[in-house]
Amino acid sequence: MADVYELRCTDCGRTYGNAPLSICEECFSPLEVFCDLEAARSEFTREKISAGPTSMWRYKALLPVSSAFEPVTPSGWTPLLSAPRLGERIGAKNLYIKNDAVCLPTLSFKDRVVSVALASAKEFGFDTVGCSSTGNLANAVAAQAARMGFKTFILVPADLEPAKILNTQVYGANLVRIDGNYDHVNRLCSQIADRYHWGFVNVNLRPYYAEGSKTVGFEIAEQLGWRLPDNVVTPMAGGSLIRKIRKAFQELVALGLVEDKPVKFFGAQATGCSPISTAVKAGRTEIEPQRPQTIARSLAIGNPADGRYAAKMIQETGGWAEDVSDVELVSAIQELAETEGIFTETAGGVTTAVTARLYADGRIHPDDLTVSCITGNGLKTTDALQGSYELEAAVKPRLTEFEAYVEAKRSQHELVLEGSYVS
Ligand SMILES: *Cc1c(COP(=O)(O)O)cnc(C)c1O
Ligand SMILES: [Zn+2]
Repeated sequence: MADVYELRCTDCGRTYGNAPLSICEECFSPLEVFCDLEAARSEFTREKISAGPTSMWRYKALLPVSSAFEPVTPSGWTPLLSAPRLGERIGAKNLYIKNDAVCLPTLSFKDRVVSVALASAKEFGFDTVGCSSTGNLANAVAAQAARMGFKTFILVPADLEPAKILNTQVYGANLVRIDGNYDHVNRLCSQIADRYHWGFVNVNLRPYYAEGSKTVGFEIAEQLGWRLPDNVVTPMAGGSLIRKIRKAFQELVALGLVEDKPVKFFGAQATGCSPISTAVKAGRTEIEPQRPQTIARSLAIGNPADGRYAAKMIQETGGWAEDVSDVELVSAIQELAETEGIFTETAGGVTTAVTARLYADGRIHPDDLTVSCITGNGLKTTDALQGSYELEAAVKPRLTEFEAYVEAKRSQHELVLEGSYVS
């Protein structure tokens, strides 16, 4: 197979070959990787994909890495689960969850984008890599860079959740806490990438990084038996993931792997940082930057790099965007855990609460085949649930003590026991 992909400007179409670049010199719009679909056609078939590895690398023929690249970080291929119990609560009859809370190796969908970005970092000859991060990206870069033998510099806003800081440090990365928000951190990283010869996965390697998100879309279609859903709900930070799921669907249609059909895209944000959903609700595509104020820190990007394109694309597909409060996202974390046994982080609380709202408002029909994308793991943001559960006094290890405990609960109506309970 030939390696045929290259950078192209999203707006003016100027091409750049392959290089660690992310912005068009002519019009300052973002660059995007375009893979030559015709060149991939003979490799990218249902048969060859099913015979491939059980990781995102089964779709390698449509990822921007050379055919000689040997992946050592098998990420992706996460479960697509039907969600009847959550569906019953929110009025959804055909709801699925794409569960990247269990994506390997670091329990968020960022492992996918980092896998591709670090492959290109190897190909461009970088020995030091890094990122600006709202948390999950830091974890993914630190872990995979360790395994691939890169030196690592990771810059994060100082107020990040403690678990996400520890989950970066443990891999031996140089973690630099910046006294500012994500948008400050990101601007600094652009300057650093210009001055040092480092590969920043979401700055100068961003076009390659972003292609990794396509694998969420490829997997959804394959796991549905090679068909497309009616609706997809995804969280939005920079606005890249939602666009790339659509790009994946379009590539599958162009190569004849799935039948074409209209798919509506729905974006989810936290109200405390909702520049994209605000634009969509106002029928605009221009993004007004915001100063983030939400516990959904992994989504707290006030000036999203792909915001304008995400807003436009959502409107084109007939979808919608919504945002929810921190209180709503916390109860949605609990609801998803209680109904489907999935513990997601704050971003997944946002997605779940927005999904419920879309059904309640009639924007999604109850019978539609809808996929809600859960992108991160709840063990990383346990501080969001601080105070939600009390730790009761320990019970002595005696049956009589246990029975007294159950009786006390019953009399306070905190416990309803049926069937097997013998009184
Ligand atoms: C980064 C992130 C997102 C959003 O991704 P974008 O491509 O920047 O829109 C969603 N969920 C989680 C958990 C993330 O870490
Ligand atoms: Zn351009």
